Amino acid sequence: MGKLYVVGIGPGGLEHMTLRAKEAIEESDIIVGYTKYMEFVKPLIEGKELVSTGMKAERDRCAKALELAKDKIVSIISTGDAGIYGMAGLILEMKEDEEVEIVPGVTASSSAASVLGSPLMHDNCNISLSDLMTPYELIKKRVEFAAQADFIISLYNPRSNGRPHYLRECIDIIKKHRDGNTPVGVVKNALREGQEVNLFTLDNFNEEVVDMFSIVIIGNSQSFIKDGKFITPRGYFRDKE
Ligand code: SAH
Repeated sequence: MGKLYVVGIGPGGLEHMTLRAKEAIEESDIIVGYTKYMEFVKPLIEGKELVSTGMKAERDRCAKALELAKDKIVSIISTGDAGIYGMAGLILEMKEDEEVEIVPGVTASSSAASVLGSPLMHDNCNISLSDLMTPYELIKKRVEFAAQADFIISLYNPRSNGRPHYLRECIDIIKKHRDGNTPVGVVKNALREGQEVNLFTLDNFNEEVVDMFSIVIIGNSQSFIKDGKFITPRGYFRDKE
């Protein structure tokens, strides 16, 4: 009997992977994923069969992983959490009678938050700016409502060559509902090689530093900077009315 693990490998650095993720990869005969992600787990996959396909071939990749998992132990890997803009959903949608286990991982917003300080201490949401599978009008609507509802917002897939202006437009939408001095953190390659951190406010935000290896976190109305750390208060110092 085979099995398919859908593994979130965390942000990239091996030390940030869960023990279960490590176990699943070690137990697997075959690893499926992008070549770049294979690099992150290189020490764990020596001697295993590797199957990698291009960036846009998700359905082919999932079909292949499910087929192989009929009689082999297979891991299909996503960075961060496999259930957050990863492969978990598509695998479950396509699966027939194969055995599947979803292995969670540390998602980019958590990784970036730890680097910036504690920006996600209150109600927060993730919005992907990728319009490959979501109409841009709907993306902007979600950004607008999240800003209005005072959520801390983590923007995944924030800026690519194909849609370089979306990020600026979304920041402008948020500015309609939030103070100009609201902190905005950008972390590129959080918790892996090449990490870069930039801290802005909504007013002085510069989208030029942002690419597809970055995540952007915008604070809520209470967020502030203390000693270079981006903090959203949980509310412990708030006197009850
Ligand atoms: N499943 C992943 C997200 C995949 S979507 C997760 O849970 O983290 C791809 C986007 O995630 C990237 O464009 C970037 O915005 C973000 N991302 C993933 N890993 C990152 C990292 N180490 N540092 C910063 N952003 C990251």
